[in-house]
Amino acid sequence: MSALLRMADVRKTYDTGVVAVEALRGVDLEVAEGDFVAIMGPSGSGKSTLMHILGCLDIPTSGTYELSGVDVSGMTEAELADVRNRRIGFVFQQFNLLASMTALRNVELPLVYAGVGKAERRERALESLARVGLADRVDHRPGELSGGQQQRVSVARALVTDPALILADEPTGNLDSVSTRDVLQLFHDLEDAGRTIVLITHEADVAKEARRVVRITDGLLSEDAGVSA
Ligand code: ADP
Ligand code: MG
Repeated sequence: MSALLRMADVRKTYDTGVVAVEALRGVDLEVAEGDFVAIMGPSGSGKSTLMHILGCLDIPTSGTYELSGVDVSGMTEAELADVRNRRIGFVFQQFNLLASMTALRNVELPLVYAGVGKAERRERALESLARVGLADRVDHRPGELSGGQQQRVSVARALVTDPALILADEPTGNLDSVSTRDVLQLFHDLEDAGRTIVLITHEADVAKEARRVVRITDGLLSEDAGVSA
């Protein structure tokens, strides 16, 4: 089992000017390639802070974070952006799709940023949309799709760059129970296909779908016993 990501003694302090908030207080976390891990914790426990660091949207105040053996914790903003674009696929609670663009254009976007040519972009976006079961909706705009379908589009967008890690922050937080099942099934399909997934949630019902559940409380992690990676 090789570790795709490894965090050691990661701390994050927000200096608000008046008081310093210690959002992460020494986090150790290893995720193996192909694993499906849920990180679960109540509001204010440090989930989003951890997600931002895992996703190379921010760096730790101290400690190390290695992605595929490369320490990203000391990288510049430009270097982080590069890692983000190439290695990580994001799925957000609010979908973050562009309303004026079709599903196809939304899914093509990460490839535009990666400098992939038009024909290949289109081909890969169509393939990615087919993989999430939306081959017949590629010309629809987000407003013409249900919440569950919109989240499928954002999963297709996350997959299109063939990232090492799929990082989902409350992906079912805005969905009804039927769409929630639908999107969780999609994550299981990705798991079966050998993808590495980290899913952040405050819902126990969602967390239990993962192979491993890690709890975060007041900026510290603890792992549920009896679950094997
Ligand atoms: P969660 O996502 O689990 O709700 P967060 O990571 O957003 O938790 O927040 C963890 C702690 O850090 C909270 O006490 C929050 O108020 C604080 N915090 C988060 N972001 C900032 C920020 N940009 N500036 C100051 N404090 C922050
Ligand atoms: Mg949060």
